[in-house]
Amino acid sequence: MHELSLMEEVRRLALEEIERQGGGRLQALTLRVGTLAGVDPEALRFAFTVVMGEEPTAGSRLTLESVPATAFCGPCGSPFACPDGMAPCPECGVISAELLGGRELELASLELLDSGPDGI
Ligand SMILES: [Zn+2]
Repeated sequence: MHELSLMEEVRRLALEEIERQGGGRLQALTLRVGTLAGVDPEALRFAFTVVMGEEPTAGSRLTLESVPATAFCGPCGSPFACPDGMAPCPECGVISAELLGGRELELASLELLDSGPDGI
């Protein structure tokens, strides 16, 4: 299940960020997940609880931002929703394979909590 290795990668990024900030712990993170990214949100949430179970990421919150699949019609010059990744333009019927969004799988934000004695 590749959601696990994906979440391990996210944890690695979080640890890097914590190190860059000189300490602290992970409070929350937001992932942007396209509906065509090929990952299962439920599996992601499960992987999150498994992978983030230890300090300094224990107790952190996961927010999943779903990005709907959107295609772009060249002739009409307008975007339209295409849940399956490929769909005819509702205006002119041209099949558009040009995706504007929907395959995203990225770390949108990372909130750290400063747990050091000097934390303000
Ligand atoms: Zn069109």
